[in-house]
Amino acid sequence: MKAVYIEAHGGTEVLTYGDRPDPVCQPHQVKVQVRAASLNRLDLYTRAGGRGLRRNFPPPLILGGDCAGEVAEAGSQVRTLKAGDRVVINPRLTCGQCPQCLAGRDDLCPRTQFMGSAIDGSYAEFVAVPAANAHVIDPQVSFEEAAALPTTFLPVWNMLVRRAQLKPWETVLVLSASAGVGTAAIQVAKRVLGARVIATTSTPEKAARAAALGADAVINYTQEDITEKAKALTGGAGVDVVVDHVGADFFAKAFAALRPGGRYATCGATTGLRAELQLGLLFTRQIEIIGAFMGNKEDMRQIVAMLNRGVIKPVVDKVFPLSQAAAAHQAMEEHQFFGKLVLKP
Ligand SMILES: [Zn+2]
Repeated sequence: MKAVYIEAHGGTEVLTYGDRPDPVCQPHQVKVQVRAASLNRLDLYTRAGGRGLRRNFPPPLILGGDCAGEVAEAGSQVRTLKAGDRVVINPRLTCGQCPQCLAGRDDLCPRTQFMGSAIDGSYAEFVAVPAANAHVIDPQVSFEEAAALPTTFLPVWNMLVRRAQLKPWETVLVLSASAGVGTAAIQVAKRVLGARVIATTSTPEKAARAAALGADAVINYTQEDITEKAKALTGGAGVDVVVDHVGADFFAKAFAALRPGGRYATCGATTGLRAELQLGLLFTRQIEIIGAFMGNKEDMRQIVAMLNRGVIKPVVDKVFPLSQAAAAHQAMEEHQFFGKLVLKP
């Protein structure tokens, strides 16, 4: 099959489009013909070998996590899926045997494996995954939209729905509205939970798109102070919840925008991993900090239900042929997008 793989860490030049063996479908797995695969920051970090993702070659590694496609073959023990089913794949594989998995908290499984990082991924014509990781999508949902779902909506669901429990009468501050997580957070906060949404972004064009997605107010952080503007928009009170996926550059400003008793939720740090936390403010203002990394299998089931019902709609910015994965990586590195970048085998 055709696939995009790496045989060394490096820049976009290490992305090779070529032939790799088809994956073998185990009894508990489905083999899926990939119709769309979406990019995540993790793909870029894995390619570069930074952030603890350095690995030994050979064997080559097929990159990519999120994807959607059609079931080509179902293993002998699979009861829930059949050939021809249209599915979206949760790229996070868990052991199903540890105390956390047995308790339904498989997001805490110590034996987690990510497609495209620990094992071969979705920049390919076929993948084989446990049936528990494949969810049926309705006919009106496109493969591109479905492929853009898991890694953006899982941490957002984990943060806003399950952990911070954002309420309809509350206000959430969503940092960097143009990234996949930002577009997902606006939709979940507004369309699923009915809360008020303040988003931040860097250009008038991106601000207009954030507003169209459901943001009630947008702060242009290149011209306005995030703390002051968020306070002004909440009558001086501060926001109830922050959704952060960008880290170091914005942590201090966003943290200061919280009301006493607010919740600070973070699921990423694209601008840098280290920030300074003023402990006095943490305890006197009784702030809760929530760290989120993807979500669990029940989160995924709920998200796919909302996708099939049309309540949420992942934002696809651009679709590239699989053979042009390097151009897609380049676009992500240069922040030239609003929403998700998708590859089509
Ligand atoms: Zn486990």
